[in-house]
Amino acid sequence: MAFWLCGASHGMSEPRLNVLCGVDEAWCMTMEKAFEARAGIDISMVRKSTGDILDQIRAEKSHSTVDVWWGGTGDAHLQAASENLLDRYQPDHEHDMLPWAQNFFAMSGSRSAAIYAGALGFAYNSDLLAALKLPAPTCWQDLTKEVYRGHIQSGNPNSSGTAFTMLATLVQLLGEEEAFRYMAALNRNIVEYTRSGSAPVKAAARGEVLIGISFMHDAVTLKEGGAPLVIVAPCEGTGYEIGAISIVKGSRNARAAQAFVDFALSPEGQATGAAAGQNQVPSNAKAALPPAAPDITMIKMVDYDFATFGLSDERSRLLTRFDTEISPTQ
Ligand code: PLP
Repeated sequence: MAFWLCGASHGMSEPRLNVLCGVDEAWCMTMEKAFEARAGIDISMVRKSTGDILDQIRAEKSHSTVDVWWGGTGDAHLQAASENLLDRYQPDHEHDMLPWAQNFFAMSGSRSAAIYAGALGFAYNSDLLAALKLPAPTCWQDLTKEVYRGHIQSGNPNSSGTAFTMLATLVQLLGEEEAFRYMAALNRNIVEYTRSGSAPVKAAARGEVLIGISFMHDAVTLKEGGAPLVIVAPCEGTGYEIGAISIVKGSRNARAAQAFVDFALSPEGQATGAAAGQNQVPSNAKAALPPAAPDITMIKMVDYDFATFGLSDERSRLLTRFDTEISPTQ
């Protein structure tokens, strides 16, 4: 393994590796401790939503303060790769990656590696559903019914990778015009668009809202923690994310950044997800699947077009349509 400490003894103080973390806060913290213990490298780990990370990396293009972007939906990593904001790196464990992960790495031009996969869906609070005497939603189309007015939260696709995945999924399932008609109908039922993609299902878990649109693995984690959630794989089919990791161009700690990437793709690094209660499907074939992870092979899934939805122009175009036709971002 190319761990920084193994090869370096500069007699200088160690660099502080700046990592922006796109996964759940609990995993960010577990990963920070595990890597610091394993590699002896001090980390500054900050959690942000996917679109916010992309915006920061773009804004800091000529004076990057970030070394590694770990987690967050892969289409945004591909957009950064296409804008030449990421460095090429061949991780130690790339040959152990599952085929979908190897495809993703190739698609990024060796600039971004897949760390996990997970399906999009929604979850509702069964206690609240019973109290409100509402029918159980099982399909995307159900979410537009008038009975759910004011009862649904979703992320805003500008900041949230989860919500951008939903927008791209609907375009692939329904065609773009129909998808925007759907989003307009759904908008009438949305009580709030949140900055983060996991906030809606966390609100549903607490009973603050009936339905949260989210990645299913986020909902599984909350359900495992005792929340009265029913998790739905929508009947029409759904999309999925490939969570990714990338080294930011201009990183001043390149060797430490590479060590972090190698750790994140190792079976040991991937096990930090399950240790933090997360339920994504790991990308390393030698990593253990978290016992409660949704079986994504059983879910009706679109053949998600990462090449198209990983294009910066496509992202900007869809987000502009969302802001002008569905809900202006504050
Ligand atoms: N939650 C989990 C568990 C994730 O894996 C990811 C993205 O990769 C997200 C949330 C995305 O967060 P956001 O929608 O805030 O960008």
